[in-house]
Amino acid sequence: MKILVLNCGSSSVKFAVIDTSNGREIASGLGERLGSREARLRWNIGDDSQSRDMPQARHTAVLRTVVAELEAANLLADIAGLGHRVVHGGEKFTSSAIIDEDVIGAIEACVPLGPLHNPANLEGIRLGRELLGKLPQVAVFDTSFHQSMPPRAWLYPVPYDLYEQHGVRRYGFHGTSHRFVAGRAAELLGRPIEDLALVTAHLGNGCSAAAVLGGRSVDTTMGLTPLEGLVMGTRSGDVDPALHGYLGQHLGWDLDRITQVLNKKSGLLGISGVSNDMRTVLEAAESGNHRASLAIDVFVYRLAKAIAALSVALGRLDALVFTGGVGENSADIRSRTLGLLGVLGLREDPRLNANHGRNSGGHISTDGTPPALVVPTNEEWMIALDTAELIDDSAAT
Ligand code: ADP
Repeated sequence: MKILVLNCGSSSVKFAVIDTSNGREIASGLGERLGSREARLRWNIGDDSQSRDMPQARHTAVLRTVVAELEAANLLADIAGLGHRVVHGGEKFTSSAIIDEDVIGAIEACVPLGPLHNPANLEGIRLGRELLGKLPQVAVFDTSFHQSMPPRAWLYPVPYDLYEQHGVRRYGFHGTSHRFVAGRAAELLGRPIEDLALVTAHLGNGCSAAAVLGGRSVDTTMGLTPLEGLVMGTRSGDVDPALHGYLGQHLGWDLDRITQVLNKKSGLLGISGVSNDMRTVLEAAESGNHRASLAIDVFVYRLAKAIAALSVALGRLDALVFTGGVGENSADIRSRTLGLLGVLGLREDPRLNANHGRNSGGHISTDGTPPALVVPTNEEWMIALDTAELIDDSAAT
């Protein structure tokens, strides 16, 4: 079945056409900097790569162009459905869902929980319905994989009313990626996922780790929003919750400014002052930039601490999985992280790690120690599979 996967962010749109019968990506593309003068769409159909400057274009114009290009390439008629990435599904969605009016209403109800992402995701859904109205559409949530967490993992120790009346609790994100790499890790380990206790570390621009027991998430580092947990490109991750009061009282910062600083100006960028991009920060550290070295130290130390803490949720650790742009590509970050995790028995094999586990079935650890694996993530594939499965199910009923 051929599925069009859409990932609408606040200023970007990613798309892919995936054939779920063989995993082939038939077309893919990215519209970036939407709404600005530099707005641009790049795409590939088969071996053909194209790009178009679309100054000021927003989601509507970009998606119309995508649909027109797919039609011109004779691909549109074969598409059986649309799969949308939706960031926040609150407590309502424990799995992916066929989109109808009720589902749209429930995603709207989650806008206060995901104010940066859900409105853009909804725009994509509405446009999908407008442009390709006949096709079934499916929502795949970043949060739903973590709905299996037990209360001890998701409850904040604040007045219980805040949870009951306002949904203040930990939700977790990147669920599609954690679910995918956990499944792949089980294949690579040659063991049923039901028997495995895994920590999965998704390290991209956003970073989170999850404890996955028997294929179900039992804890994760992100919380009410994707700001909690690990150090990220521009996000701080965990800080003292009293920081808001301190910055308000002593610097006169208002909530908007504090939120902006913690989300956009912190993390690797905030400490290093160089970049939010790990490659650039690593290069700066290599050439002697002290703050870049500090940023990497804090990133790795907090990551290792989180992995150790997540092992508590599992009771044991059968394997550690690295994924995301940093996790898949930086032997250095993996090596430093494993170096801090001797307490869990983990030990890097430097040769396998330098090869990113490519010739060793993902393995980068020394024989006889708990496996550490590099597993490239593929969220689009997971979204396409869920979409095809739900379309099949609804056709069968
Ligand atoms: P997103 O979260 O936006 O999907 P990615 O998963 O692509 O992002 O990850 C982007 C991050 O991966 C950036 O910080 C980038 O520097 C980092 N990265 C990519 N390749 C390497 C590399 N070879 N070494 C270190 N970091 C890398």
